[in-house]
Amino acid sequence: MLGLMMEKPLLVGSLLEHAERFHPEQQVVSRLVSGEVVSHRYKELAQRTRQLANALLALGIGPGDRVATLAWNTHRHLELYYACAGIGAVCHTINPRLHPEQLSYIIEHAEDRLMFFDTDLSALVSKLAGARRGQMCWVALGHEADLNSAMPEGCLAYEPLLSAQGDELQWPQLDERAACSLCYTSGTTGNPKGVLYSHRSTVLHALISALPDSAALSAQSVVMPVVPMFHVNAWGMPYAALLTGAKLVMPGNGLDAPRLYQLLQQERVTLALGVPTIWQSVLNYLDEQQLRFTELREVFIGGAALDKTLLQRFEAIGVTVLQAWGMTELSPIGVVNRPLPDSASLGEAHFQQEKLKQGRGLWGVDLRIVNDDGQTLNWDGASAGHLQVRGHWVAGQYFKQAESACSADGWFVTGDIAHIDPRGFLKLTDRSKDVIKSGGEWISSLELELAAQSHAAVAQAAVIGIPDAKWSERPLLILTLKDGCELDPDSMRMHLQSQVPTWWLPERMEVIEQMPLGATGKVHKQSLRERFG
Ligand code: AMP
Repeated sequence: MLGLMMEKPLLVGSLLEHAERFHPEQQVVSRLVSGEVVSHRYKELAQRTRQLANALLALGIGPGDRVATLAWNTHRHLELYYACAGIGAVCHTINPRLHPEQLSYIIEHAEDRLMFFDTDLSALVSKLAGARRGQMCWVALGHEADLNSAMPEGCLAYEPLLSAQGDELQWPQLDERAACSLCYTSGTTGNPKGVLYSHRSTVLHALISALPDSAALSAQSVVMPVVPMFHVNAWGMPYAALLTGAKLVMPGNGLDAPRLYQLLQQERVTLALGVPTIWQSVLNYLDEQQLRFTELREVFIGGAALDKTLLQRFEAIGVTVLQAWGMTELSPIGVVNRPLPDSASLGEAHFQQEKLKQGRGLWGVDLRIVNDDGQTLNWDGASAGHLQVRGHWVAGQYFKQAESACSADGWFVTGDIAHIDPRGFLKLTDRSKDVIKSGGEWISSLELELAAQSHAAVAQAAVIGIPDAKWSERPLLILTLKDGCELDPDSMRMHLQSQVPTWWLPERMEVIEQMPLGATGKVHKQSLRERFG
């Protein structure tokens, strides 16, 4: 017997409608590329989004069409998210830090019809002007006066495009399975792959990410996604904030520590989200200038592992750190680390260790760990293997790839190596392509990196496997040092010895000037392998 409840599709547009009706005065504050900080209420955002949707329709954009963005976190980018989704089009966010060759590949592969870009990216845009055989229409995110001759021919300006339109629009009823946004993975080998999110997956992900044991959002929250809107939809915050009526603070391209600190303080941000490297630079700035946060209560960290020093530095200034693990293919949230009721009572040492794990599963994502032979491993906190996931917001297939992205029995193979403890806390130990196989056993490059990073002289650490005649592979430790610091290899050896098994200790260590970083700010191990491998 079927239930007799209404069937109402889960649509992204409903989040905006909700925010407009129930939180009309709540604000989205944006730092524009000009440096100006502007504020819009959700009711204005909704009006402007309808104007933008009318403009998109007038430009011939229809259901399924891809509309690209090369843009920072601002209200305009948010309007694009909702206008595209609302008319059934697909907002394709592109990471401007990708290599131009990868950018061209992505634009051609996605068959983007329109491209909205922030004006500080004009130099990059001029290199891409010939994309799609010159058939793509370009729109600069600004006013008529922001256009210049370096921009592609026929380039339009965003604000006049909006003001030419009325704000009346009846949003179409869409299938909740329809695509609403597209994000390519920042694959270090091979071409990037497109992850095509649906309205349903996006709304469910927003609901879950707002829960108390996740980002814990409410209308009282002031949220700043420092993570860019081109990096897995700013981890879903542009959706979760409107769902809950939280205030959104968008830092634009002002991602350096002084400007971030200023905006965090000025807008009284309570929760900020970003990768560890961002927070290291913000904390260094605070120390140098002897500053403190007055409102910031929580930081949500993901994209790379949280290390002990970062956790302790935040705790020392009264800010709670939440680590999360996820990936583009998971919209992105997979697990989040919030304590269990007994976590604190199990002893300080246990609690601290637990906090450094990536987190526990949320409803909607199933997790399993399998070994090389495909056997499922126990959750004993030690048996590491390939992490596989299944769920409502997990990719089943990549864009324009006929084959499934999953195993024969329907699990997505994350490419990460992890173990899970009996309490359900997942601990990531490596990427499967980074794990070092020495004498038939696995050495976790991630654990070695975290251990090396906790040395007082170290700024950043990376570990790669190098060929070895006897053991087949041995770890090589590559470091950058903090300003003015020197490092004695013996002191590093002693430091590591207390934290990892002796047979893991790298025989070789290299100190370099600058760590190569990929487009999402993670260490680019491929370049290190090419240089040292
Ligand atoms: P991306 O799709 O670019 O967001 O990258 C996803 C990958 O980042 C994951 O597969 C992990 O390897 C890594 N990652 C994400 N979150 C964490 C975390 N908390 N700790 C360690 N690695 C992480």
